[in-house]
Formats: sequence, C-alpha cells, structure tokens
Amino acid sequence: MRVAWTAGDGLRHLAFRLDAEDGITGPCTDGQPLKMATNSCRVELPYEPGETHPDLLALTAWTVVAPWTRRRVVFDRPVSPEFAAAIEEGWGIEAGPVGGSPRSGRGLAISYSGGADSAAVAAMLPDVPLVHFQRVPHPRVPNRWAHYRSDALARLVGRTGRESVTVRSDLEFVLAEPRPGYPEHHAVAAGALLLADELDLGGIAFGYELGSRWLGGGRYLHRYTPDNPMWAPHGAWGRAFAAAGVRIVLPVGGVSEAVTMRLALGSPLREHVRWCLRGTGGPCGTCGKCLYKELIQAAIERRPLRTPITADRGVARKWQRPPPYGGQEMIEYGCARVPGIEDTAFAKAAAFLGATEESTAWLDRCYPPAVEEVPAPWRERVRAFMAAEVGFMSEDEARRVETWGTVRGPS
Ligand SMILES: [Zn+2]
Repeated sequence: MRVAWTAGDGLRHLAFRLDAEDGITGPCTDGQPLKMATNSCRVELPYEPGETHPDLLALTAWTVVAPWTRRRVVFDRPVSPEFAAAIEEGWGIEAGPVGGSPRSGRGLAISYSGGADSAAVAAMLPDVPLVHFQRVPHPRVPNRWAHYRSDALARLVGRTGRESVTVRSDLEFVLAEPRPGYPEHHAVAAGALLLADELDLGGIAFGYELGSRWLGGGRYLHRYTPDNPMWAPHGAWGRAFAAAGVRIVLPVGGVSEAVTMRLALGSPLREHVRWCLRGTGGPCGTCGKCLYKELIQAAIERRPLRTPITADRGVARKWQRPPPYGGQEMIEYGCARVPGIEDTAFAKAAAFLGATEESTAWLDRCYPPAVEEVPAPWRERVRAFMAAEVGFMSEDEARRVETWGTVRGPS
C-alpha cells in the first residue's frame, strides 16, 4: 500500500495505491470484511493548520487504508521509528520510510459525535474543545445515503455553546460494503489528528463506553474483552496513537450506556444530543437505533416505552430471537426496568433473558480498571467525576464485567 497526501488551504487530499499483494476486500480490526469503493478521499479542515507531523499524517492515512493492507505500507514522508514499530508490532505490517523524531503534545480534545456517549464525555470535561466529524459526499461515489442528515448534526454541535471545530470529510465513501462508514472506527478522529499539532493535543477523548471497550460491544458479541485491539491502551490502535503522541482517552470507558445517557440528559447538552441521523427535526423514532436508545432512556426514566414499533416490524426482528444480542447488557438493563415490557417488541427478549434490577445493578456503576487506563494527565479528573457522579462497582459487580459472556451470574 502506498499513500500520499496533498495539502492546501485547509484541504487535505489522501490518495492510496494498492500493491500486488493487497486486496480490495479486507477485514477491519473488529473482523468485519470491508470492500473498497475508491482509492481517494479528502478532509476539509476549518482553517489551514500549516505543517503537520508526518506521524499524524501517517496515522490518519492508516485509519483509512489498514483493512486492505497485507504486507507493507509506504508513506509519502518518513515516519518516526517509534511509529513504524507500532504498525509493525500491531499489525505485522512493514511501515516506512523511517526517519525523524516522534511528536508529543499536552492538550485534550473530544471526538464529539453528538450522541449520548460523547455528550457524557463533554459533560464530564466542560472545558475541553470538541472536534466533530461531518460526512460530506464524495465526488466519485454516488450518495445512496441521502437520508443521513450529517448537516443537521453539525448544526447542533455549533449550538452547544462549546469551543468546537467541525471537520468535513468524504472518507466514509471509500467503503462500498457493507455501506459507507469509517474503514476503521478510528477514522472518525481524522480531523482531530490533522489538527493535533495546531491544538497541541496529547490525547483524544472518545465516547466509547463499557460495552464497546470491555464487553465486546458493537460487532463483537457478548464477551469480556480486556485486550480489545481497538480501544485497549496496549492494543494495536492504542499503541499506534500513543506513538504519534496522541493517547486514546476513554473517560466513559468504565460505565454503561445507561450511565452515559443519564449524564448526557442531565447536562446542559441535553437539547443538543442526537443519536439518530434520519430526519432533520429530531430522532426518527422508527429505526433500530431509535428503538434501542428508547429502551435505555425509558429504563432510566422508569416509564413505559414510547414507540410505534411493534414486534412484527423488521427493525424489531432480532428481539424475537434468543440471545446473544449485540449490546445485550443494555437489553437486560432495559427489560429489567421498563414497566410493561411484556407488551412491547422486547417481550420475547425479556423472557429469554430473565434479567432483574438486581442482576443488572452493576450497569449503574463504574468499572474501576477503566479509570486506571485513562492516561495520567487526565486520570484523576475522571476518577473524581466518577466517584462524585456515578460510584464504583464492588468486586462482585466488577466480576460481572470479567465473566461477561462466559458464565451466567446470579440473576
Ligand atoms: Zn431513528
């Protein structure tokens, strides 16, 4: 794989060329096979930041091309030996050319999506600037996803009253299948990485919570993942970010989506939180994500589910089948708490899971090891916030995390 950046006027254009051994279908770090649509993309920064450290350019490119790289990656300028070693050790990929010295930085920015998880991070760190990634169309790829209203979301970010920058990019359209999206989850940080020198960043905070970091959330299913290659500090991506002088920081890595939802809805950002990108006037209320988030919100508000979605609808199909489910901990949490769950699309899931308030109480507290892995400059702040606002899991509760997907705890 060969990658090259061209730059000017705040615009960064990335082009990449496959070597003979590379393929246009390859797995991203979570195992999902991805098919490439095209070999170029751009990132529009809100201003021209000037020179960018080569390791930042290389890491940004790597978040786009990693799935399709088989043996080696050749960047268009020398990367530090430390960064090259991180790629080699993390992926078994030879990276070069090698030269120059590593970078470092001191500050923090929040990769802010506008959803409840990153809003919880923003509520926890009120003085930290937000960097928002906005999807824009790609000149060479037809946009069959026009219902995805990234413009509405970017407007909401602008209204938070926070120091924020929005970075626009078409990089999600390098992905043909399964659909446009980040080639690697970390590509959402493209803007923050390209501005990291200008903003003096030593870390980027993400809204990944307990499920994503420790319970194999997302496309992983139902297992304890201490060595999560995407988000553990000692995982491949954690080491690659650290080598480029930007540590991955997960301020809400120890708490569930019930807690992030409660923190977000209890914060000044409440009016600006949006997890559904269909429709412009608010969440659509009819997609699978809206149904899932409504279950969590109804649970924390201790009220019946407000949704038109019934069990016979396509988006509710998976809840009619037995577990395991993606995000199962939150399905258990919701089913245990929402009054009248037996009359909703989750009735069958609730019966399969048999969860109770007691068996899901651990999801209201913070998993202590998640705080220990927050990098030192920000760790005590996160610890103090968790102690004051959330509370920590007992040893028995922490064991629920560490046996997730292997044995059933008492319920
Ligand atoms: Zn929706």
